[in-house]
Amino acid sequence: MSILLETKGLTKEFRGFVAVRSVDLAVERGAIHALIGPNGAGKTTVFNLLTKFLKPTAGRILYDGRDVTSLAPASIARLGVVRSFQISATFPQLTALENVRIALAAKAGGSFAFWRSDKTLERHNARALSLLEDVNLAEFADTRAGELSYGRKRALEIATTLALEPDLLLLDEPMAGMAHEEIGRIAALIKRIAVGRTVLMVEHNLGVVADLCDKITVLRSGEILAEGDYATVSKDPRVIEAYMGT
Ligand code: ADP
Repeated sequence: MSILLETKGLTKEFRGFVAVRSVDLAVERGAIHALIGPNGAGKTTVFNLLTKFLKPTAGRILYDGRDVTSLAPASIARLGVVRSFQISATFPQLTALENVRIALAAKAGGSFAFWRSDKTLERHNARALSLLEDVNLAEFADTRAGELSYGRKRALEIATTLALEPDLLLLDEPMAGMAHEEIGRIAALIKRIAVGRTVLMVEHNLGVVADLCDKITVLRSGEILAEGDYATVSKDPRVIEAYMGT
């Protein structure tokens, strides 16, 4: 497998405090890769660096072999690196279908999709429905986003993200706050949508990614503590220690 995303010596300081220290990450094309770690490990900061919301203090980011360290957020998104929207970014008063349609219209024609006429948006109906099918939400197409269960809101968020046709999908704690049976459903969904793309996900809890991820990178205090498949990292005494008391 070839490497799609790579960081070299990625470092971020906030006024002298090192939140991410010299991180070398290699995400293989087609893999589901998890970034795991206790609170404050630096996971969110790494995501913010990858999506260009933060500028690194030092280090480089390579995407598909190209140095993208100094690209703007919109440019990295155009290359196919898309981060899952937060739930707050879906419109609760609009139906599931309307939410996905807006994302499709935004992808097709710039940022003012919300103001487009209904006719323009209706062109995206078929594709929007097919994306809702992909995330098992077809029967909720006409339900307002605000009325969906928590787990289904996350699925809708993933559908709107897929509308942007990512090659590298960055998922921000997709299982956070979920009940046990919902976690299984979202894991199955992530597996399904990962076909033909690469997924990098941040997750606090090591256990929930056990059956899902090809590779796990464990961060602690901004540094890579351990890396490998679940069987390897879950047995690593440094990982067990890092999770004690969290
Ligand atoms: P995680 O997502 O693993 O919980 P974060 O990346 O959010 O960790 O944070 C890593 C460390 O960096 C924490 O100690 C946090 O307080 C600090 N940090 C994050 N963002 C900022 C910021 N904008 N200014 C100062 N410190 C920050």
